[in-house]
Amino acid sequence: MQFVMATNNLKKRDEMERILKELGIEVLTAKQAGADLGDVEETGTTFEENAYIKAEAAMKATGLAAVSDDSGLEVDALGGEPGVHSARYTGRHEDSDADRRAFLMKKLEGVEHRSARFVSAICCAFPNGDVLRARGTCEGEIATREAGENGFGYDPIFMVGDKSTAELLPEEKDKISHRGQALR
Ligand code: IMP
Repeated sequence: MQFVMATNNLKKRDEMERILKELGIEVLTAKQAGADLGDVEETGTTFEENAYIKAEAAMKATGLAAVSDDSGLEVDALGGEPGVHSARYTGRHEDSDADRRAFLMKKLEGVEHRSARFVSAICCAFPNGDVLRARGTCEGEIATREAGENGFGYDPIFMVGDKSTAELLPEEKDKISHRGQALR
């Protein structure tokens, strides 16, 4: 089975490719499938809606089965923020992952209850109209300072036990991650 990955996020793509390879599933980038996905507008209000929008767009652009991930971080003390807005939490497109982590840490200054979870909604869209959906979650806590160099996004401030997910080896993260669980 072969899927086109409906994402332009290189780090996310690496993770999806690694996890799916373990499952014997071959993946292509949209570019390898001869399509330019551009920036698909994520107009949904849930991870599931956005995952479907991206998978359907990639399937239509390439004519091939497509797999997408829409994911993010839910912080309980912030009522589930940043949620579907995780990739652009600061509101400024040009900001970096480090800016978004700093923004979140600032909001949590002095907050003791720091439980959070990563959520991944996976969607597969097939040319015959079939759609497959799965959700994975990874429970943890927001750290009070950054640790680790691996991963991407909020990984350096997301603690699972005594390590951040940026301190885990890629294969360790895949075993417990929201994305790993949803894809499997
Ligand atoms: P989107 O699914 O492209 O809308 O973006 C998801 C955003 O959530 C990413 O840009 C990251 O900021 C964050 N995120 C999702 N998964 C992870 C992860 O595994 N580690 C760290 N941050 C993540």
